[in-house]
Amino acid sequence: MLVRFWGTRGSLPVAPTAETIRRKIVHALVSADGRRFEGEADAERFIEQELSFAAGATHGGATPCVEIEAGPSYFICDMGSGLRPFGLDSIRRNLAGHSKTYNFFQSHLHWDHIMGFPFFAPAFDPAATIRIHAGHPDAEEAFRRQQEEISFPVPFEWLRADIEFVQLTPGETHEVDGMQVETILQHHSHGSYGYRFTDTDGRTVIYSTDSEHKLEKMAVEAVFIDFFREADLVVCDTMYSLADSVSMKEDWGHSSNLVAVDLCHQARAKCLALFHHEPTYEDEDIQRMHEESIRYEELTRNGPPLDVICAYDGLEVRI
Ligand SMILES: [Zn+2]
Ligand SMILES: [Zn+2]
Repeated sequence: MLVRFWGTRGSLPVAPTAETIRRKIVHALVSADGRRFEGEADAERFIEQELSFAAGATHGGATPCVEIEAGPSYFICDMGSGLRPFGLDSIRRNLAGHSKTYNFFQSHLHWDHIMGFPFFAPAFDPAATIRIHAGHPDAEEAFRRQQEEISFPVPFEWLRADIEFVQLTPGETHEVDGMQVETILQHHSHGSYGYRFTDTDGRTVIYSTDSEHKLEKMAVEAVFIDFFREADLVVCDTMYSLADSVSMKEDWGHSSNLVAVDLCHQARAKCLALFHHEPTYEDEDIQRMHEESIRYEELTRNGPPLDVICAYDGLEVRI
């Protein structure tokens, strides 16, 4: 199973400004301290080994879209702005013989999670099959509405793929093209759904974004601990640092990095991916939160270690 992150930012797509790029270049030049490089590979090695991730790269700014590569058809969680590059990449893979069946799983219908669909090129392919799974009964309405004339020039009716909406029920196990899928209702405005995917080898990935978990209410979190149990990878909403989430952003429908570590520890999950990054956070802020999460994991560990990674646009995780 391969998990590929096409969009990892929450709420609003962002891009680095000219000022941000310039700051990274200045930092790299100063860090190189007059050193000569034999070629591009040598320079790449310097970036990889001597610069931090925030200094030498970026977490990216596309909104949520995560692909799970397992089996002949596509499995994709959410259709944020990261869906556009995924769509173009899948057309390239289709030309090489990949099945044109796309199975989408929607956490919910907020704009940052559906805004990529009008730019999803395979939707215009009459040979493509698109199944949009959601817990919400009004999913189709949300997708049609964002392509009404007042919002977008291409109406939903113009799409040529075979598009089907499938409502999933929490508590039931659904089989979708060989993948076992379970869903759970989460605490978020208009409700959101987490997903538990298990492939034929028994590998498990949890996709749980836009969900508010609270440290002081761990008793009511028992259902999530069970849902995350022994997962190989948990992709979790960690939009805010703990300080932000308990002060000004309580009840905004998102969670902190530290609550996510607690849940994963109790669930004995193997790996946690920090996800749905706050759009106002710079790369350095996200990196700081990642380092803080690793330290917190070590301090609170009471069982097997939990690997804490930080999702960025383009990250691939093999489990
Ligand atoms: Zn969101
Ligand atoms: Zn939301």
